[in-house]
Amino acid sequence: MTFKDLGLKESILESISKLGFETPSPIQEQVIPYLLNNDSDIVGLAQTGTGKTAAFGLPLIHLAEPKEKYIQGLMLAPTRELCVQIATELKRYSSMMEDIRIVAVYGGEDIRKQLKELDRTPHILVATPGRLIDLKERGKVDLSKVKYLVLDEADEMLNMGFLDDITNILSSTPEDRRTLLFSATMPKGVKALADKMLKNPIEVLVSSGLESTENVKQYAIFVEEEKKFGLLTKFLE
Ligand code: AMP
Repeated sequence: MTFKDLGLKESILESISKLGFETPSPIQEQVIPYLLNNDSDIVGLAQTGTGKTAAFGLPLIHLAEPKEKYIQGLMLAPTRELCVQIATELKRYSSMMEDIRIVAVYGGEDIRKQLKELDRTPHILVATPGRLIDLKERGKVDLSKVKYLVLDEADEMLNMGFLDDITNILSSTPEDRRTLLFSATMPKGVKALADKMLKNPIEVLVSSGLESTENVKQYAIFVEEEKKFGLLTKFLE
């Protein structure tokens, strides 16, 4: 499988080949064609290091329409560091394309600089939830035409108490947007968030690639906490 087989534009293929990406990672093989050719939501159980940023970032850049001057893709991430990392990666992927504007906004930095950045509307906005709410309340971001919404490290965002902010932000986006949720773990809160915010999502499971042996088959099944033991016993039997 090559990146070309996945259906990405020539300009994107050029930039990722410059970055030295040769073959798609397992999560990229699953998520990229799905985003390009289908229209339902995605829940991805994946950790950092699996290539998940490119899995959602490459198709979003492919799908972005440079001439449409509004926020088309919104990515929420728990920390400043992750926002910067995502935005940096996306800028690299789009380096050979005409004018796709990617902006990151996050807490802990002078808001004036970010307000200025938003004077020219980005096509893709990467944000921490708290700062985004602040900017939204100042009338600096219009989320009413968002087509793609990514919740990255959803478990971390909930751990940091961002549930209300996420709910608030999502309510400012269109009902018919596509939503992608990525999380390294799937505790109850994240499952509930996915159930509430996503429509019939496909579930993508990717291991970190750190398994100790090839002889052990690993399974992951989404299950309610109280049913976990029963199901595990059944499986072992
Ligand atoms: P992530 O899991 O998104 O944090 O990505 C981990 C790192 O792997 C990043 O530095 C990416 O630039 C890099 N990466 C992502 N996909 C590929 C690929 N298909 N081939 C080589 N490197 C990649």
